Amino acid sequence: MSEIYNLALLGYPVGHSLSPQIHQEFFRQTNLKGGYLCLKTESEQLAQNIHYLQELGFKGVNLTIPHKETGLKLAHKTSSMASLIGAANTLVFQADKTIYAENTDWLGFLHSLPSDVKQNSQKAIILGAGGSARAVVAALQETNISQIELFIRNSSSSQNKAQALKALRPNIKFQVHLFDNLPLITDSDLIINTTPIGMSGFDLDESPLPEKFLDHIKNSNCYFYDLIYNPSETTFLKTAKQRGFRGQNGYNMLYLQALYAFCLWTGIEVESLKLKCS
Ligand code: NAP
Repeated sequence: MSEIYNLALLGYPVGHSLSPQIHQEFFRQTNLKGGYLCLKTESEQLAQNIHYLQELGFKGVNLTIPHKETGLKLAHKTSSMASLIGAANTLVFQADKTIYAENTDWLGFLHSLPSDVKQNSQKAIILGAGGSARAVVAALQETNISQIELFIRNSSSSQNKAQALKALRPNIKFQVHLFDNLPLITDSDLIINTTPIGMSGFDLDESPLPEKFLDHIKNSNCYFYDLIYNPSETTFLKTAKQRGFRGQNGYNMLYLQALYAFCLWTGIEVESLKLKCS
């Protein structure tokens, strides 16, 4: 009898997720049998839901807000990148009943960057210092980025996260600035929004960067990356594109993190799945 690969996304909320559609496409391409369901899971239900799915023979789960950090702690083994980032978005249920934790967000981000941006960018600006910023910084280590300007809001949470982010990659030069007091930066190569500002459910007209900040950027090759994929074009991306800059939203990152997770669960080679980035 052929294997059945039942998979799930645990988080709260999960109703809006595009992951079931993406994994359905992987099942179609590979002819593997299985399914991917979204299971609304509040914090106190996480360990129990993971246990039930393991007992039911599921091959693994994705974790989303607010479970990426807790999920890491529930695993028996973790990859070095998941440990470094301090969060897991993928748990693999192994045959010996142990759980392996991986973070594929950083891979999704890294492999979604255009190759010229990866090779030619040295100075990056990162907006926000939360979980996804950690995955982004981990990924940037694999590029030629040597300097990061981190923009955060004036909260103790952001300040603490910024210090932890600096410690993540001590060989990258970091400077931290408050959104309330932005420096004049003219020579950035890559600007990445990891805050939720502009996403569906927030004020869609809002951008984390004021328009006048963009007017000072002299590098016409500066690349704008918004981790948000809904809406597909945030105000941050729209204002950048209006000024002739290139950029992308978070869909390719989402697609690729899903692809790497699917390959971990099924043993399929990454190269054998068609890359269908938009
Ligand atoms: P998170 O851990 O909550 O981090 C969000 C960061 O943004 C924190 O530093 C937070 O600051 C800051 N922030 C929130 N609201 C802000 C505001 N109004 N002004 C300034 N800073 C603000 O969230 P996350 O998991 O990193 O996710 C962030 C975004 O990335 C979400 O839109 C999510 O959908 C997207 N994302 C996309 C992908 C993908 O595959 N494309 C993957 C992961 C995440 P405080 O610490 O002060 O609260």
